[in-house]
This record gives sequence, structure tokens and C-alpha cells, in this order.
Amino acid sequence: MTAHRPETLAIHAGTAPDPTTKARITPIYQTSSYVFDDVDHAAGLFNLEVAGNIYTRLMNPTNGALEGKIAALEGGAAALATASGHAAQFLAFHTLMEPGCHIVAAKRLYGGSLNQIGHSFRKMDWHASFVDADDPANVAAAITPQTRAVFIESLANPGGVVQDIAAIADVAHAAGVPLIVDNTMATPLLCRPIDHGADIVVHSVTKFLNGHGNSLGGVIVDAGRFDWAASGNYPYLSQPNPSYHGKVFTEAFGNLAFILACRALGLRDLGPAMAPMNAFLTLTGMETLALRMERHCANALALATWLKAHPKVDWVSYAGLADDPYHPLARRYLGGKGGAVFTFGLKGGYEAGVKLVSAVKLFSHLANIGDTRSLIIHPSSTTHRQLAVADQEQAGAGPNVVRVSVGIEHIDDIIADMAQALEAA
Ligand SMILES: *Cc1c(COP(=O)(O)O)cnc(C)c1O
Repeated sequence: MTAHRPETLAIHAGTAPDPTTKARITPIYQTSSYVFDDVDHAAGLFNLEVAGNIYTRLMNPTNGALEGKIAALEGGAAALATASGHAAQFLAFHTLMEPGCHIVAAKRLYGGSLNQIGHSFRKMDWHASFVDADDPANVAAAITPQTRAVFIESLANPGGVVQDIAAIADVAHAAGVPLIVDNTMATPLLCRPIDHGADIVVHSVTKFLNGHGNSLGGVIVDAGRFDWAASGNYPYLSQPNPSYHGKVFTEAFGNLAFILACRALGLRDLGPAMAPMNAFLTLTGMETLALRMERHCANALALATWLKAHPKVDWVSYAGLADDPYHPLARRYLGGKGGAVFTFGLKGGYEAGVKLVSAVKLFSHLANIGDTRSLIIHPSSTTHRQLAVADQEQAGAGPNVVRVSVGIEHIDDIIADMAQALEAA
């Protein structure tokens, strides 16, 4: 199956006909728990010696189909579905970090990830340095003996920034540290970070993978390549675990130690499991991922080109434009495409931004991306309104900035709506 092309994998990978009922579509296994054959079977399951189902906080066949599909698309060894994208990030870091440890992260990240890593992780005594990852030397300079992971977004939300994944992977590996890539905005249809050296990929499947804005979800994908035992820096993986009678995950599970620890320790004990209904909705959405991404990218390029020539628009930041500073990296990592999300600046500043989002009719004014519908937000009056203007500007969300997630409607209707709204601004 993994030999197939991405368009085929998006439909077929992970989802064979149901073995019991022969249902062609993966059923929603809406059950909390699973019956044991006998006491020995139960013991084998709990000892992680036999594969099988125990309880839906740990595993569920509908979620398992989604995990198989995304692992195949990303070229990973295995995957784990979680309740949300943030839950995926939390479980991935929880598996790698001890109190006092440190993350080097790109400073151009989804705002929620800046909060999670910069503020909430501090309560666990996990620390972070945010660097301008456009120059991989900045990543290298920020790595300390306590650093346990480097974290970037392949295509950063919201600004149309593309990161040099291979160069950053080299820097991380030279320091004995894995590279984690959030591939939410690019999706495996544009970029497969594992092919460029990433060790772990995370997603908010809430966005383009699901694609229809109807449920939350996340996933962790393990490349299955990193040597967790070599440095002794990952004791959760390479030291005896007291909650499994002293089992050492790297010895028991080899190259799957990380992803199995995310499930059997992290998900078991912290609990952010995906609802099977949400896995089903995401499986359904993913069947059209290839078609949707093609249309999303074509529409975004057309809208960005049109906006760039509009007299009320100051600038457009979209890596799909041939003259964009990030276009060479988009050619290397994203097949020359720029995804569906980008920002632009209005000459009229804050007031014009507020008027624009009030005047759109086809675009929905809301805080999400990756829907079939075109979405728009003015960060300075919404997601970033708590920040001082200087900090808004630092985050690429100054008073004149508007972010769009371009949908898959007809491009003429998208442009017509933007034209009438700009008229009103
Ligand atoms: C939305 C998003 C997240 C968080 O995902 P949730 O599913 O909302 O928890 C993380 N990273 C990126 C790039 C996102 O766009």
C-alpha cells in the first residue's frame, strides 16, 4: 500500500473493509471497552505482549484506521491519534521532556503553540527558546545540554513562512536532538517532512486533513529512525518503566519505542484520546484531501495575485507567489505551492481591517483555517488583541494585517466577495 501515490493513499491507506461485517467504510466503533478472550489474553494485552484492544482511551479501531492512513501518507513507521492538535504536541513533548529540560522552537508558529510552549509548559518546568529559524545557525546557537527537541512548522501559520527542514534537521541531529515538525498547514500532499530528515511529525487534523470544519483532532507520526537510547537523554524511553514492571521501551519495542510510549504511557495517563466519531469524520474528509489541496492552492494563488494588484492592499505574504522571498523554499519543500492560508496588509490600517471583515459575505469571519469555505480574520481585533501593537507586529499580526484561509468555492465568487468588501473598507 505504501508504494501507492498520495492521492491513492489518502483514499485507501489504513481502511480495509471491516473484517467482521464486511462493511466497506470503516465503522464508528462507538465503544469504550473490549471483551477479553480469557484471563491470559487480558494479561498479555496489559503487558503489551499481545496486540489488541483494551479501552478506547488507549486505542480504538476507527482511530486506528486514521492512524494508519496518516502514517502511510507521511511515510512514517506509525502514528497516534489524539483529541486535538495541541494534545498531539503535548503528548509528543511529554514523552521526551523531564523537568528542567528545554525546547528550541521557531518563533514563527501558530499563536496557540506559542502559548502552549512558552507559557503552559513552564508549569512543568519545561523551558523554551524561540528563535528566527530562517537561519538554522540560530537554532544551533540556542541548543543547550538540556535541549530535548527542536520544533518548527513546515509552512508557518499565519505568515506564509517556509522553513528549511533539511538544514534544521541537520543542526538538531548534530546535537543529538530530534526534529519535530508541525505539518498542519502544508499537509503530506504538499510536504513530507520525514523525507527531509524530521523525526516526528504532528498535525492538527482539525484543519486541512479533516477539511470540513466539523471536528477537532490531532496526530503524532513517528519516523521510527531516532536512536533514543544513544544519549541517555530520554529516560522515559530508555530506562525501566515502573508502571510496566520495569519494561524498557527501547529494548521491548525497538524503533517504535517513541510512538508506543506516547500511547501506552502518555495517552494512558494523561487521557486526551480522539473520539471515534471524530476519527470517522476525518477519515471521510481525507478521501478528498488531494483534490481539495489542489483547488485550495490554485484559489489562494489566484486571490493573492489579484490582491497584490489592488490599490487598497499594501503587501501580500504568500510563498506561492513567484517573487515571494520564501518561494525558493516553497519550490524545494512544497512543490512550488504556498498552501491556502496567507496574510496581507491594508493601506487603511486597523480601521480598514475591521471594516473588511464586517463587509465580507461569502467569507466567514472566524478563528479557524482549512475549511472548504473561505475564512477570514483580522488578528489585531481578535486573536492578537491582548498583545501590545509592537508584539502584534513581531508576531506578523500588526493592526493592518488580515489573514485568509482560501476555500474551494469558485474563484470568481471568492474574488467578487473580496472586491466588494475592499470597496466598503
Ligand atoms: C490549529 C493549529 C494547531 C492546534 O490544533 P488544535 O486542533 O486546534 O488543537 C497547531 N498547529 C497549527 C499550525 C494549527 O493551525
